[in-house]
Amino acid sequence: MAKHVFNAGPCLLPDKVYDKAVDAIRNFAGTGVSLLSISHRTKEWDAVMDGTRALWKELLDIPEGYETVFLGSGASMQFLMTPMNFLEKKAGYLDTGVWASKALKEAKGLGDASAIASSKDRNYCYIPKGYEIPSDLDYFHITTNNTIYGTQIHEDIDCPVPLIADMSSDILSRPVDVGKYAMIYGGAQKNAGTAGVAFCIIRKDALGKVSRYIPTMLDYRVHIDKLSMFNTPPVFSIYVMYETLKWVKEMGGVKALQEINKRKARTLYDEIDRNSLFRGTADVADRSQMNICFVMTPGNEALADEFLAFSKERDIVGIKGHRSVGGFRASTYNACTQEDVDTLVKAMQDFEKQHA
Ligand SMILES: *Cc1c(COP(=O)(O)O)cnc(C)c1O
Repeated sequence: MAKHVFNAGPCLLPDKVYDKAVDAIRNFAGTGVSLLSISHRTKEWDAVMDGTRALWKELLDIPEGYETVFLGSGASMQFLMTPMNFLEKKAGYLDTGVWASKALKEAKGLGDASAIASSKDRNYCYIPKGYEIPSDLDYFHITTNNTIYGTQIHEDIDCPVPLIADMSSDILSRPVDVGKYAMIYGGAQKNAGTAGVAFCIIRKDALGKVSRYIPTMLDYRVHIDKLSMFNTPPVFSIYVMYETLKWVKEMGGVKALQEINKRKARTLYDEIDRNSLFRGTADVADRSQMNICFVMTPGNEALADEFLAFSKERDIVGIKGHRSVGGFRASTYNACTQEDVDTLVKAMQDFEKQHA
């Protein structure tokens, strides 16, 4: 596609995935029926579900004892489903932004949940450090990549209690030590596909420890038992995920993508640090590899709209920052290419020359 798309989500996907989705909408798996009109109780659909699960497990190197369900509810529903399924007495949250605090809000509605540490004091521009995780928590919840503020927890942390992570915006961007987590979840639309489906990787023995009644649709055990088909699955979104996972594999897997992602992020951060008109908003050590946030330097704030228009002329799309940070945000998810990033960097350089 001719545009350079940096949207934060739903994200850019590889052209090949768009092509496959279009083909399947016209004629799904040679059935002569559109993907949008197939029965999900057929062997052709089972092949997609099984294939998606198998690729997911392979690409993320998910150990035995874990199950993944694909639910048509988005990441935000997991903010509620996680405390529903895991909170008996007490839960702790790492407050690293809007998504983290939305997750905490749902847990508070169901029990004793609180922020163990927060970076709210500096508008979430860093990841809190040196906090202690109480050993009496049912679980500790983190958001590994903070899509809005452009901060990221780069390592899989050690945690004395079951660890639950929202990985909506960095899943499949780097290898993850899944065995360190009781659960990993996220919406597909940042890096794993399009909107309409959430992934939940759950260590089975972490379930079944709460005494409350769990409504059927909110009970992870039901969805695990029914292989994500308790009710009609979001067939289109799952299909797009399936094709995205095939592409990830073709690219050499998450390790190979991590190298590409690192290079893209380095290219853009280097320019932000060099260019006199721009500065990054996140603390350097905690900068995200996926969502790169920057603003105009002091005195140049009035040029922001002009830069947006300037880059739009060069077919750069989706770099306007989230309203809570302002400025710009370039989301460099897996399908974003080095060429896309180079185009943005060139625009920044030319804009600087124009204003020197
Ligand atoms: C986008 C996002 C969400 C919300 O996802 P939905 O699928 O829209 O509910 C939650 N957490 C993070 C980190 C996100 O980036």
